[in-house]
Amino acid sequence: MKEKYFVKVAKFEILKPANGMTWKEFRQLLMSVRYRVFRLANLCVSENFLQFHLWRKKEIDKIPTLKISELNRQLREMLLEEKKTSDAEQTRICKRGALPASIVDALSQYKIRALTAKSKWRDVIRGNASLPSFRNDAAIPICCHKPSHRRLEKTSNGNVELELMICMKPYPRIILKTEKISGNMKATLERLLANRGNSDTGYQQRFFEVVQDRQEGRRWYLHVTYKFPASLLRLNPQVIVGIDLGFSCPLYAAINNGLARLGWRHYESLGKRIRNLQNQVFARRRSMQSGGNASLTMDTARGGHGRKRILRPIEKLAGRVNNAYSTLNHQLSRSVIEFAKNHGAGVIQMENLEGLKEQLTGTFLGSRWRYHELQQFIEYKAKEVGIEVRKINPQYTSRRCSECGYINIKFDRAFRDANRKDGKTAKFICPKCKWEGDPDYNAARNLATLDIENLIRQQLINQGIPSEREETPVL
Ligand SMILES: [Zn+2]
Repeated sequence: MKEKYFVKVAKFEILKPANGMTWKEFRQLLMSVRYRVFRLANLCVSENFLQFHLWRKKEIDKIPTLKISELNRQLREMLLEEKKTSDAEQTRICKRGALPASIVDALSQYKIRALTAKSKWRDVIRGNASLPSFRNDAAIPICCHKPSHRRLEKTSNGNVELELMICMKPYPRIILKTEKISGNMKATLERLLANRGNSDTGYQQRFFEVVQDRQEGRRWYLHVTYKFPASLLRLNPQVIVGIDLGFSCPLYAAINNGLARLGWRHYESLGKRIRNLQNQVFARRRSMQSGGNASLTMDTARGGHGRKRILRPIEKLAGRVNNAYSTLNHQLSRSVIEFAKNHGAGVIQMENLEGLKEQLTGTFLGSRWRYHELQQFIEYKAKEVGIEVRKINPQYTSRRCSECGYINIKFDRAFRDANRKDGKTAKFICPKCKWEGDPDYNAARNLATLDIENLIRQQLINQGIPSEREETPVL
């Protein structure tokens, strides 16, 4: 079987240049290189488009393969003519072209190739797309696939350093800021450093990007794109992520071996967009109903056509709402899988929604199939990375105290709705151990508990709650 790989990006702040280079010199060099990247990338795009145009007018037989190295030489001439850079800078960066091969290679491999497909140009000619363009604050891509290329290294004094191959030797050396990075990032960095030969059986550095943040005091960052075989993803079947499809937010995830959680604030902007669209649909529908119904009952000349005409934009809008929901579901499910992977969880537990009917009306996502779609997305994405998905009977999962296991029978939907404050559901408070917290987090923590269905059954007996009592499931 072919080995599966994951590609990820790790972001590190550049602490400072090493070897006595000042920030001022370093920044000047970076900005000069970045300007060349911007010029070369745009030159490539326009040149390619021109060739496509000639081919389309049958002036040339076939589109020549893009010679970015040739353009690199031309750009050097152009820069010299324009006197954009000083002579010293000119020779410092490169003698043969505007940019060194490590950047030109990376540009053609990772930045330009995707943009120069014929289908792209067709879209441009039809007016469906504009010519792709690069901004002056574009990232500087640097290759690291050849043995001679520089990669991350740990120095004897514990620094993580990299020689940036953005100019001629000596390459400027940077020190990464490795203090205060998260435990996951630290583990990733260790694995990258451990794979000295950059072999594809370990964490493999693919390419770097030097990026300046537009906010945050315009600091410089190094993005490391890396690849690793799926078999290195260590998933522990004892670590469980619980997912609660809640009322106040569509999804809340918690884990059974710590306090980590994934809540609504991660998706706030998308949620706002959906609410906005949904309000537009409601407003349109309302206005149509008052006018539209009349034209249906009265046999006027306008009759059907008028209604049809009004209906059409609503259908369009509703389609957009559905698309936005699917996008949201994709983002939600992707983030859940990321969350599980980052915590090494081998199992995801979520509510079994079968037989839940219209219980979900009035909740954030509004209708049942959207939850269904979300669960399907989570299921197939989990399967791809080898995470087991278990469906849990949701009864009492939102009324059990995730701290001590006591079931707070009064904390049902009616109670929560009655105690709603500023659009927020009431806090879950355990009458027994006095633990209190976000109700969605509490439910997610319960769902992340091993053997939760049995625990709840046992607890019901202990508290003398008749088990035959047929309860409509309450989320
Ligand atoms: Zn408790």
